[in-house]
Amino acid sequence: MKPGATSLARYGTTIFEAMSRLARETGALNLGQGIPEGDEPADIVACAAEALKEGNQYAPMMGLPALRRAVATHDRDFYGLNLDWETETMVTSGGTEALACALFGLIDPGDEVVLIEPLYDTYIPVIEMAGGVPKIVRLSPPDWRLPVAELTAAFGPRTKLILFNSPMNPTAKVFSRAELEIIAGLVLAHDCYAVCDEVYEHLVFDGAVHTPLLTLPGMRDRTIRIASAGKTFSLTGWKVGYLTASPALIRQAARAHQFLVFTTPPNLQSAVAFGLAKERSFFTGLANRMQAKRDRLIGGLERAGFAVAPSAGTFFLTVDIRSVGFQGGDVAFCRDIIETAGVAAIPVSAFYAHEPETSFVRFCFAKPDTMLDEAAARLKRRFRD
Ligand code: PMP
Ligand code: GLN
Repeated sequence: MKPGATSLARYGTTIFEAMSRLARETGALNLGQGIPEGDEPADIVACAAEALKEGNQYAPMMGLPALRRAVATHDRDFYGLNLDWETETMVTSGGTEALACALFGLIDPGDEVVLIEPLYDTYIPVIEMAGGVPKIVRLSPPDWRLPVAELTAAFGPRTKLILFNSPMNPTAKVFSRAELEIIAGLVLAHDCYAVCDEVYEHLVFDGAVHTPLLTLPGMRDRTIRIASAGKTFSLTGWKVGYLTASPALIRQAARAHQFLVFTTPPNLQSAVAFGLAKERSFFTGLANRMQAKRDRLIGGLERAGFAVAPSAGTFFLTVDIRSVGFQGGDVAFCRDIIETAGVAAIPVSAFYAHEPETSFVRFCFAKPDTMLDEAAARLKRRFRD
């Protein structure tokens, strides 16, 4: 028999699926895949259930007007953006589909795409499916500083766009205004675009603020901003995402969206519109709760002997496994702690294109306090007691 697509054959099952499966099979506490537990807003869920009684047919391709208006209002209230909801917003099936629409909408075969790794696992496969050529700039632990000379060198005449993620999974880095200005300067100098994965926009800590690149001078017509209700409302199973960009860029993304999924479940869109209209305190409350969980897990992991890297945003933190004397790499460590401690984590090497062994692993802290405490206690028994 002829083989299936060889271009996809080299990709195995994603690390998130693999680790969650292992956790289920072994009964381990799953601090691996980013699945927020115990924080689902009951009123938003009730709104979705109620909306099921009203409409169950295709929503408009671009999204329900109520949600598109809510996205534009949200972006005005939080970032001072003046968006026309009818031409400058689009609803997608999660941040993942939003990314695919942005990339398929912009990339021609042979176009170069600048990426910053560690990076989220869908980026490279989708860029390659579009015929793009990844140009990767590497950040290294523990400070994950942006290497400006390498970044500048990655841009060239064939660069079509830069795609990056801030707040950043798995590093928990939030790009500073100065770093964003450097990126904006490169985008302008090379007459290209930026696709900004901002799904963790509301998960920033210690009073820091998230700044969308779209708000910087010259970026309004060159940037696609991507967000996700999955992260903002701790409802990852819903897969509702949205893009904001100039009319020309939204048109390009919509050309891909209409052929990828066309539309997103209407009841979930209604409920997300309701959620986005919540008071500002809802969004700051989420960040405050997650910050407390971050600190709780940091305390527990430090008591277990780990050196924990700073976490400025997202619901993840990373630790250096050498700090507890572990001799192997990050993949071996994740296998070890599932078996010996009953705790699942994600190896940071999975976020690099060529999967170098790193000595860092990622834990998700969007979990009930009891689970965070128990995971830390188990790791302490494994490495300290
Ligand atoms: N980008 C990043 C960096 C993510 O961590 C995620 C979460 N899975 C996504 C995109 C995808 O978001 P969604 O679940 O809404 O498709
Ligand atoms: N974003 C999630 C994480 O980093 C995973 C989502 C997925 O499994 N596709 O854990």
